Parts: sequence; C-alpha cells; structure tokens
Amino acid sequence: MPEGTPGARSGHALSLRNLSKYYGATAAVDGVDLDVPRGSFLTLLGPSGSGKTTILMAIAGFVEPSGGSILLDDKDITRLPPDKRNFGMVFQGYALFPHMTVADNIWFPLKVRGVSKADASTKIKNALELVQMGHLAERFPSQLSGGQQQRVALARAIVFEPDLLLLDEPLSALDKKLRADLQWELKSLHQRLGTTFIYVTHDQEEALSMSDNIVILRDGQIEQEGVPGDLYEKPATKFVADFLGKSNFLQGKLATKQADTFAYVCGGQTLVQKGAPDHAKVTGDILIALRPEKITLTPQRPSTTNAVAGRITAFNYYGSAYHFQVGTEAMGELIATAPAWTCAVEPSIGNEIWLGWEPDASVVVRDR
Ligand code: ADP
Repeated sequence: MPEGTPGARSGHALSLRNLSKYYGATAAVDGVDLDVPRGSFLTLLGPSGSGKTTILMAIAGFVEPSGGSILLDDKDITRLPPDKRNFGMVFQGYALFPHMTVADNIWFPLKVRGVSKADASTKIKNALELVQMGHLAERFPSQLSGGQQQRVALARAIVFEPDLLLLDEPLSALDKKLRADLQWELKSLHQRLGTTFIYVTHDQEEALSMSDNIVILRDGQIEQEGVPGDLYEKPATKFVADFLGKSNFLQGKLATKQADTFAYVCGGQTLVQKGAPDHAKVTGDILIALRPEKITLTPQRPSTTNAVAGRITAFNYYGSAYHFQVGTEAMGELIATAPAWTCAVEPSIGNEIWLGWEPDASVVVRDR
C-alpha cells in the first residue's frame, strides 16, 4: 500500500471481558465476552434494544461500563477517555460540518491532531480516492447526495489511520439500491485497509453479506456468534433461525433414533432428521427449523425422504423468485420459496402441491 494510505498498518484486536452496562435495573449489556480478531469485519446484529449501540459506545468510550473490561491488543482501555482511543466512527446521520468543504471535513480529525492542511494533503487525497470522492473535494455537504455524504463521513473516519473503525447503522438512511452498492464498497474498503471494523446493524442481509464474523445479540447477551454461513446453516436457537433469514418451525416428538439420524412425528406424520447439535441428548419433544428455500415444490409426490401434501394459500412474485404460503394438514401453514425461472408448480391459489426435503435440509434448534 502506498505511503500515506489510511490504515496501511495491520489491524488491531479488541476483546470484551464480562462487559456490562446497567441503566437502573435494566441490563443494556449483560456479561458480554467477545474477541474481535485483528483486521476482521465483525458485525453486532440484533433487534432494537438488544444492546448493540451500547456495546459500540462503550468501545468508543462514550458509555462507561458498569462492569467488565475492554482490551485493545491485550491493553486495558476501559477507563481511557474517547479522545485518547484513536478510533474512527461513522453513524447513520452523516454529521459533516456544513460550513466546511469536503476536503476540510476530512482534514478536521488531522487538524485536531495538530497536522497542517499542507502536511495532510496526501492523506486527504488518498482518503477521498478510497471512497471515490476525489472529484468533489471542494463541494460543501449540502451539494452532495446522501450516499456521497456518507462516503465523506467514511473518509473522515479513516484519514487518521484509526486503530478501529466503529460503524453504527451507517447505511440505514440510504435507499435500497444505494445501500447495496455501498455494502460492496465498504467490504472492499475493509479488504484494502486491513483495519478492524466493528459494525452495528439490525439488517440481517447487510450482516450476512459483509461480515467475517457475526455476533447475534438478544437482551444484552450474546445469543450465538460465528461466520455468516455457519450461523445461517446451523442456528442453535429458534431466535437465531427466525432472526437470521426465515424458517418454518416443526414441533415434533422423537419416534426412533439411529446412529446420526432420527425419526420424529409431527402432526401425525413421521419425518426423518439427520444430525442434531447434541444427537445423544435428543429425547421427547424436539423443534426443527426448516428454511423455505430448502423445500422442493412439486406437482406430484416427490422422491425425497420427507414429503408433505399441501395447498397454495398465498404467493408473491419477486422477479427472481416466488414466495409461497402452503397450507398442510399435518403441520399447518408452511413457507417455501422457489426460483421463478425453474418453479415446477403452477403459482395459483388453491393449487394442490407437494413439499419435499431431505433429512439434512433441516436443523434441530433449542426452543428459546
Ligand atoms: P440497540 O442498539 O440494540 O437498539 P441499545 O444498546 O440502544 O440497543 O439499548 C439497549 C437497552 O438499553 C434498551 O433497553 C435501551 O432502552 C436501554 N438504554 C440504552 N441507552 C439508555 C440510556 N441512556 N438510558 C436508559 N436506558 C438506555
């Protein structure tokens, strides 16, 4: 990377140890232990009120923890004031200085560190190039679109080579298409900089598409963490299966068990499941999560191990896919999706169809 490129050094590692924050009797953050690997893109994902922003603000130094500690490269920074932490921040609102040009906005964090504009000019230029805003350096924020303003805010947050970049829902004020474009750009920016990114969102697609690691929060605690593919394919709980993507939930009773497969009865029908997180402990009542895209829809009974008859009760067309609601006698209403260009069933309400899936298409989840 050329000299003067923001964040050219390798990233830093952050750890939270038993971090808590209480507001009166409310635990906004409740005993969180977390390791953010050096140079990684970690996303805190969860519904509103799950503690995401409080954790980010504690890392930034704006919220004082009630307990626990924050370590940067194993150094305790829990009591370090925010201005001594050298972290970049980007928020949903762009928070640019309206009376300053783009270049001066980006100079600002260097100026407060005592760097003259002349000395900062290479860094300002490089930061602007990184966010593709080099041609708009002399404009004022009011002359920029929302997406451009957020690019400037990003450049301002990386120009002083921060140890960490903290991003709190930075794309949520933008429209859908622009948000998708900036997701690509943020990911590529992260790869080029090598800076550790900690990203807060409640948008599961954003989390899945950009992150190296996702931490799912619920009521101030970590519900599950992992790489996006593992979290999506192997949710441990009903909450995760429901929050990250969509799922059908089948309530069953164990019938027979073999090496790594078991049969269970759901709505009077016997179905087969392969594997469970703790197979040996599967007894009695079980809960199965089945993703809608893992169900095959056919006009006739399919040859899959599991097959359930149903009737289309509603459907939506999304261009690339159909989303179906299918009423079944055995297990009530199920949701299923099919690529529109290969959809084997006629999308019409009342159409009698079959839903099929293999034993390894679904997962056993804890009911919480
Ligand atoms: P999220 O970012 O996931 O939406 P927050 O971290 O903002 O969640 O909030 C977590 C919980 O802490 C919520 O119940 C919220 O109401 C509470 N909370 C956050 N900040 C304060 C505050 N300054 N005073 C009182 N309660 C707060």
